[in-house]
Amino acid sequence: MLQSASPTPTPAAALPMPELYRRVERHIPPFEWRILADDIAAILRLKAERNAVVLAHNYQTPDIFHTVADIVGDSLALAREAERTDADVIVLAGVHFMAETAKLLNPKKTVLIPDLKAGCSLAASITAADIRLLRERHPGVPIVTYVNTSAAVKAESDVCCTSSNAKKIIEGLGVPKVIMLPDEYLARNTAAQTKVEIIAWSGHCEVHERFTPEDIRSLRESHHGIIVLAHPECPPEVIAECDFSGSTAAMAGYVGKERPARVVLLTECSMSDNVALQYPDLEFVRPCNLCPHMKRITLPKIRCSLETMTHEVTVDPAIADRARRTVERMLTMG
Ligand code: SF4
Repeated sequence: MLQSASPTPTPAAALPMPELYRRVERHIPPFEWRILADDIAAILRLKAERNAVVLAHNYQTPDIFHTVADIVGDSLALAREAERTDADVIVLAGVHFMAETAKLLNPKKTVLIPDLKAGCSLAASITAADIRLLRERHPGVPIVTYVNTSAAVKAESDVCCTSSNAKKIIEGLGVPKVIMLPDEYLARNTAAQTKVEIIAWSGHCEVHERFTPEDIRSLRESHHGIIVLAHPECPPEVIAECDFSGSTAAMAGYVGKERPARVVLLTECSMSDNVALQYPDLEFVRPCNLCPHMKRITLPKIRCSLETMTHEVTVDPAIADRARRTVERMLTMG
């Protein structure tokens, strides 16, 4: 069953090929579809043979997101649905920390990532040793860790959060001060919404840190009436000038509810492509930034992953239980 964090319908991965094509025909020309169709058909067959599901993040390209994915959404939705699936094999069409999170929540299942090099600048910005030093420096202050981190970092933390539930998790701890890491901008943007004092780390998302307030002013000048949505990993100066800020799921939800005639999503490029396919009557302006890590995942690599059962993601048992507890605590609180 295909599920989504978005309130809008998403396509079923088991549809016949012509119907699948109708889902993406405004984005993929027929000659390109003829090239992709062989991999798509093979992936659908392999999923059935292996009792596998494909979990795809909102930043995956439309050929993956709208044709072979069983579950789509943001990091929080993927973590929740990874916990609920009864498939034997999970293929994570996303980046490595997402596959690790799926493995933490499904220790007995086989979790595959189609490209082991699909990393994340945020996850790479902090280590478990950094967290231990922070604890020494700020004794007794709880550590709230964004899911965009390694399992080793999660294991040293008290609770995880996503961009959807950061404020709720921080306030739910009932303390006056927390450490929130590794995304400095998400921490500062969350601090602006709460009385809880937040100590931040200096990690940044290499996609969202590049947006500037000047980008927004120039968009407003050149596209009259445009509504600007921005991800909270953008710098606070960008958030201050946008019309709405929220996670990828929240942005998709805003578009579905408010139906802005002309809109821009300041986030990864494929997000706009995927949402635009669901709302053909709206105009999507497309200045966006590509995530090189997300773009490592392709249909041929997903097919190869299912054919060869690679690359299996495992988590060191010495850290898995502690890391799982921080994710589960988030799922309980948020
Ligand atoms: S978009 Fe940013 S936060 Fe997401 S995987 Fe890419 S680098 Fe990491």
